Formats: sequence, structure tokens, C-alpha cells
Amino acid sequence: MNETVRLFTEDGKRLDGRSFDQMRKVRMEVGVLDKCDGSAYIELGKTKIFAAVYGPKEAHPRHLAQPHRAILNCRYHMATFSVSDRKPAGMTRREIELTKVIKEGLETLIFLEEFPRSAIDVFIEIIQADAGTRTAGITAASLALADAGIPMMDLCAGIAVGKVQGKLVLDPSEEEDKYGEADMPIAIAPRINSIVLLQLNGRLTIDEFKEALSLARRGIESLYELQRKALKNKFAGIEEPEVE
Ligand code: UDP
Repeated sequence: MNETVRLFTEDGKRLDGRSFDQMRKVRMEVGVLDKCDGSAYIELGKTKIFAAVYGPKEAHPRHLAQPHRAILNCRYHMATFSVSDRKPAGMTRREIELTKVIKEGLETLIFLEEFPRSAIDVFIEIIQADAGTRTAGITAASLALADAGIPMMDLCAGIAVGKVQGKLVLDPSEEEDKYGEADMPIAIAPRINSIVLLQLNGRLTIDEFKEALSLARRGIESLYELQRKALKNKFAGIEEPEVE
């Protein structure tokens, strides 16, 4: 535990004025890019992310194609200018790890078997990073997949819970993440009640873990509502196909 850095005010509030169970301001928009099949933009406080989807399309190189399902290609990438210390242009170990966990999470939701020999590409571009990029990234990716019309069991949304000087906080800020004792990013597909991503950096007791999970669930419910609204905003006015 880091006692030297002050992370709460004298009267026990978070430095940015939020309550312990409050997320930063969230903005989501769907269909923000023209040149891909599906796209989304998300802002979580100062974190800004675009997600873009291509496909389903023919898999390249062809030897990677699977006879009974589509392959999912995914890339989580931070722009060089997204962090204060210029990030090297290539993929860092952290980006490779986040690409892997996000891809594995999304794979559990997409009906890949509907598109044999095909590929679906998902790009997550972090334009500005200020904590919470993996969870906001997977939230935007699931929206972009829906925007591309890719059939999925459910959308998923993610948020982190941090443990900061002994207290659990929803959606830790960069400072809280950096100096806190634990950080648990989690993404859930709420309708099917499935956890699609769960990581834990640091230690929590079993009771803390349970409390963190319920804190995250509440945050995810509101993110899910915002996702549905963002999709409705784009597709409102498009008439439902008539059922014979
Ligand atoms: N960060 C940074 N440089 C890096 C990686 C991370 O400044 O190379 C910052 C960035 O704001 C990021 C935060 O540290 O959002 C927390 O990173 P973490 O690995 O916990 O992932 P995240 O919370 O973004 O999912």
C-alpha cells in the first residue's frame, strides 16, 4: 500500500470528486468511421478509443482459414501520442497481452461458426490513454461488431475496480491505478451473464473480490444501457423487416 501519495481528500472523497462507486463520464457513439464495416467511439473520462471492424471476409493468408468457422483477428494498439511518454511505434508486450485477452473474450460471444473459411478483423485504437483502456476497448469493440452486423450472443461491456488505500473504487483513475494496491478489469456480457474478461493485478480478499464483482456489475449495467442507446441512435428510423 502506498501511504505517501495522497489519493483521497481530507474528508475521504476521491481526488476527482467521484464517489467510490461512480464511473467517470462516458460517451459512446456507433458508426463513426466510413471505411470499415462497423465502428464505435468511446470516451471514459479522458480515455478516448476508436474500434473498427472489417468482415466477415475471405481469410488471408488462405492457409489460416478454418473449414467450420471464421477466425477472429484482433489488435489492441496504443497510438504513439496516447500517453505522456511517447510510446514506441511497434506492439509492446502489454499490447500483445491485451490483444490476446480481448480477442479471447470476444471469441466467446461471436457466432464464428456461421462464417466458415472467413475472417473478422477487430482493431482497437487507443487515441488517448488515461486508465481503463482495455475495458473501454472491449466495450467499443463489441459495439463495432454489432454495428458491422456480426451475429453475437450479447454485447459486452467492461470496467475496472481498484483497491486504493484499503478502499474499493469503481473505474480507477490513472493515479488510483498507479498507486493503488489492486486493479481488477472485468468485462461481462450481461444478458447471458457471462464473464468474458477478468484480470487481477494485486491482491484482494475473497470478500473484497465479491464486493468488487458486484461494484463492477453495477457499472457494467449502466454501460450496457449506454451501448444499447448508442446502437438505437444509429439504427433508429431504419424500418424493421416485415414478417410474413
Ligand atoms: N499507461 C501509460 N503508458 C503505457 C501503458 C499504460 O501511460 O505504456 C497508462 C495509461 O493511462 C493506461 C494506464 O497506464 O490507461 C493503466 O494501464 P493498465 O496497464 O493498467 O491498463 P488499462 O487500465 O489502460 O486497461
